[in-house]
Amino acid sequence: EQASTIVLLRNIQEAQTILAYESRELAEEKEASSQFAELHFQLQDLNRKLEEQSLHDSLTGLWNRRYLYQSIPRYVADIHRAYFGATFEKGESECVAFLMLDLDHFKQINDTYGHEAGDQVLCETARRLQETARTSDIVLRWGGEEFLVIGRNTTHAKAHLVANRVQECFRKSLFEIGGGKEIEITCSVGLACYPLVPQKCDALSWEDVLTVADEAMYASKLSGRNQWVGLGGTEQTPIDGFRESL
Ligand code: GH3
Ligand code: MG
Ligand code: MG
Repeated sequence: EQASTIVLLRNIQEAQTILAYESRELAEEKEASSQFAELHFQLQDLNRKLEEQSLHDSLTGLWNRRYLYQSIPRYVADIHRAYFGATFEKGESECVAFLMLDLDHFKQINDTYGHEAGDQVLCETARRLQETARTSDIVLRWGGEEFLVIGRNTTHAKAHLVANRVQECFRKSLFEIGGGKEIEITCSVGLACYPLVPQKCDALSWEDVLTVADEAMYASKLSGRNQWVGLGGTEQTPIDGFRESL
């Protein structure tokens, strides 16, 4: 009986040792997993911050809105130098052309062919716009299915050529959407130049002019889509109250 008690005691001791070992391992595992969770959280946070600071749209690789706000003061300063500096020649009318572009009936493409097909159209749009743009032009994804093309080194008299070029790159061929399917994609474009009124260069801000380009884009939608509409001003355009009317 004594011998069997000794065996029992030894078994209990062994079981205790195993339990102690396992509970330590468990504690270590728990510690490791909470460290992992913390690290994961930190990484997510870092990614979010990086995205916020990024100047590119992640789907198309184009510049994003953030880039616009960072770079536009330089272009506006160039224009002001041209208008108010010694180099300005009257009648030349250098400007920055804003083209707000919105794909027509894009929701229907998602609904009919799926979101991935829609994404493919957005990427192909980006590719075509970049291909057609001059090196001094800026192409960016404004958001959703809206793009902004900024034509630099142009004049009021020639800005419509940028709009023609942009629309031509949609019309030249169908868009592939996977599975061997090809569809026609059209867009509506609104055009406005900074300065809106060449004779009153600093009367309106570039943001005002961008709003005018947006209004022009809606005018294009209202008059049937698949076309560009330009809005401009003359010396007679009343500037007072213009901003309020936008
Ligand atoms: P309209 O001709 O008046 O511009 O009509 P629309 O259908 O193009 O405009 P609407 O504003 O009704 O729809 C825009 C759609 O774009 C809705 C939204 O789901 C889709 N969209 C926005 N961003 C993305 C994206 O990143 N990928 C895809 N696939 N679709 C997107
Ligand atoms: Mg839209
Ligand atoms: Mg649209």
